[in-house]
Parts: sequence; C-alpha cells; structure tokens
Amino acid sequence: MEKTVGIIGGGAAGMMAAITAARQGACVTVLEGGERLGKKLLSTGNGRCNLGNLALDANQYYGSNTKWISKVLKRFDVYDTIRFFQGLGLIIKDKNGYLYPACEQAAAVLDVLRIELRALGVRVLCNQRVSKICRNEAAGRFLVTAGEESLSFDSVVIACGGKAAPKTGSDGSGYMLAKQLGHKLIPNVPALVQLKCGESYLKAVAGVRADAEISVFSRGECVAKQRGELQLTDYGISGIVVFQISRIANYILREQEEVQVVVNLLPDYTEEDFGQLCIIRSLLKEGRNVEEFFTGLLHKKLMMLFIKMAGLKPDIPVEDAKEGQLKQVYELCRNWRLHVTGSNSYDNAQVCAGGVDTAQITENMESGLVPGVYFAGEVMDVDGKCGGYNLQWAWSSGYLAGIGAAEK
Ligand SMILES: Cc1cc2nc3c(=O)[nH]c(=O)nc-3n(C[C@H](O)[C@H](O)[C@H](O)COP(=O)(O)OP(=O)(O)OC[C@H]3O[C@@H](n4cnc5c(N)ncnc54)[C@H](O)[C@@H]3O)c2cc1C
Repeated sequence: MEKTVGIIGGGAAGMMAAITAARQGACVTVLEGGERLGKKLLSTGNGRCNLGNLALDANQYYGSNTKWISKVLKRFDVYDTIRFFQGLGLIIKDKNGYLYPACEQAAAVLDVLRIELRALGVRVLCNQRVSKICRNEAAGRFLVTAGEESLSFDSVVIACGGKAAPKTGSDGSGYMLAKQLGHKLIPNVPALVQLKCGESYLKAVAGVRADAEISVFSRGECVAKQRGELQLTDYGISGIVVFQISRIANYILREQEEVQVVVNLLPDYTEEDFGQLCIIRSLLKEGRNVEEFFTGLLHKKLMMLFIKMAGLKPDIPVEDAKEGQLKQVYELCRNWRLHVTGSNSYDNAQVCAGGVDTAQITENMESGLVPGVYFAGEVMDVDGKCGGYNLQWAWSSGYLAGIGAAEK
C-alpha cells in the first residue's frame, strides 16, 4: 500500500523532503503555516539565493555533533545539490565556489521546486499551522492537528525551521512539536546577525566599512577570529565578518560572560612591518598637524575617532603631541577593543543556532525516540556559516528525511 507522509513546514527543507518522498512513491501532503511555500527562500542571498558552496565541509557548521553532521553531508553533498537542481531545469552559476541560480533570482529556485511538487502530485495545504502531532501506537500512525482539522499519516517530517526571520513563518513552533514528542532542545540564540557594542562613540563612525581582522575574546582568551569587510553602525558592528562570529558571541553572553571584539584595521601588516611603517611615517611630522600626520592611514572618520580617543586635538602641530599619544593612535589601528553587549534580535538574524538535539536523531533523520518522525532543516541543532551552507543543510537533511519517511 502507498505510504502517506505528512511534511510540516514548506520551506527549503520541507519542499526537498516532499519531492524526495514523492519520488519514492509516497503520497505526500505538505502542511505550511503561511500563505505560501518558501517565503524565506525568496529573501536568501539578497534575493539571489546562495544555494550551496563547493567548499562544503562539516567545519563550516556548528552544532553539538559535528561528526554526525559530516556523515549526513556526505550522503547528499554539494554535487548532489547541483545535480538535483539541474535536473529541475535550473542553471547554476559558480562564483568563487558560491553557488547561485544563473539568473540571480531566488524566485527561480522556488519556482522549480514548486513545479516539481505539482508534477509529482504533492498535496500542498497552506495556512495550516500544526500545533500537535499524536502517535497512535496501535495503528502505527500519526495524527497531525492544524487548527480544527486533523490528518493522519504513516510518517511525518518536522521541517518548521527555527526562530530566525519569523515574518517568513519560522516562529519556533517546530521546537514545541519536537518537545511534545519528548525531544531534548539545545538552547537557541540568534546567529548570522549584527552585534551591539557598549561604545556610544560608534555613532561618529557609523556607515564606515573597512577590511579588518576581528578576534573574539572572552575571559582573556581568543575564541574566534575572522577576516573580511567590517561595517560600523551607530549601535555596533555588522558585515559578514561579524555574522560569522555572532553565534559564538551570543552563546558566551548567554552564560553571562563578557565578550570583547578586538579589531585590527591593518590586518596585512605583521607587528614588525607595522613598527617599520611607524618609523617611516615619523618622517612626515614636519609642518603637519595631528590630523594631517595621520592622513592616509585609515578612513578619515576612524582616524579622527582614534585621535580623540588618544586625548589629542586634531589641529595641534604634531610636534607638540606626546610620543605616547601618537603611539596610542597607532595601537588603536591594530588593537581597537569593543565591548559586545548583545545582538540584534531573531527578526534580523539569518539563522537560529541550537534546536532539536541531534544526538536523538539517526543519520536517516529519523527520531531515535519516536520511529516514523523525521527532521529536516534548521529545526535541528545545526547552523552553518554564511555562504550557502544553511540551504545546503536544508537540501541534504530534507533529501534524507524524505527517503526515510517514504520507506517507513
Ligand atoms: C534574510 C536571509 C537570507 C538568507 N540567505 C541565505 C543564503 O543566501 N544561503 C543560505 O544557505 N542560507 C541563507 N539563509 C538561511 C536559510 O534561508 C535557512 O537556513 C533555510 O531557509 C532553512 O530552511 P528550513 O526549511 O529549515 O526553514 P524555513 O525556511 O524557515 O521554513 C520553515 C517553514 O515552516 C513553516 N512552519 C513553521 N512552523 C510551522 C508549523 N507549526 N506548521 C506548519 N508550518 C510551519 C514556516 O512557515 C516556513 O515556511 C538566509 C536566511 C535569511 C533570513
């Protein structure tokens, strides 16, 4: 007899699971809480959808079980993703390893998925926010409740996403469903998000962008380092370089520990090279004021800020400045310390770290506690770095969940 599969959540992972299960011959229904499928997908990659990355590797992911993540990714890797989408008619472009639809429209990715769902006869029910999954032990089936209605399935896939960008439908209700079934949850924090800093003077440099290396310090120890374009805002720091370290900062702050970010705005210089540069620059002192002396080193707004932070007036002759103060300005260029107080909320986060504990999920994405229940996508305790890794996780886990649920 044909297996019936209920997919809860019609995002990237849910659509992948639905297509895979239907291709295995199952009778598939997608229950989507929002008005339409794949709303979040449309906003990915600034509307261009970075759907994968050739540098796929478990090191691009966080979660309490990275060996398990690695095994899952090997079973449906980036080349499987490329083949899958090419099979749906999508032309894929490789930009230094970052994969996009060649037409640079996220809508094209959503469209090919929707067309395939229709071709496979998958039933899509929108505006159906699932609040309960009950297992009927005797019948070996699941009763899924959305509003007043209940539907029965042989197996179910929970693909509700996390809490990030809740306007796209992911309101954290997937965690509640997993918990109802007895699953352990790893605490959540916003990830791939801007960080807030305590330094009110940042207003003076808001809007400045600069190539930088940033190091995250907690309890005097460096716990993460990233290089890339730093964006300064009136409340803190942003840019992909900050997104990449935000989940680490947020988990430390969650433990009530302090977090500092040390910014090196001249990351190409070794300490020795920089020392040499300062010696050569000292030849420029004659006839210049402090502002003029430092001109050309960094963005003007940053230079003016550091001059002020060193207690110097920009218009005094540089010869009148104390050596220690000039040294302090130079020091700030490479060791500018900011105190992180928090991050922007889930509204601004691209992903949600934490989620269903993967120690309770098999490599087939099946619940180790409730056979017949599968998980796909961000609802699990897996979050990737920027660069197409989160959608790859949705495709890989969605594929395996779809196969497993159809076979059950
Ligand atoms: C602005 C932005 C840009 C991003 N850009 C990229 C990028 O370029 N590359 C990349 O790899 N990743 C990107 N991401 C991350 C990526 O989009 C997500 O990791 C991925 O979409 C997660 O897929 P998912 O299917 O698990 O969850 P979601 O896409 O969140 O889908 C979950 C679905 O489940 C539905 N749902 C929730 N609860 C219920 C319920 N109780 N009943 C029924 N339905 C429910 C929701 O309405 C939603 O449609 C971006 C994220 C954002 C917010």
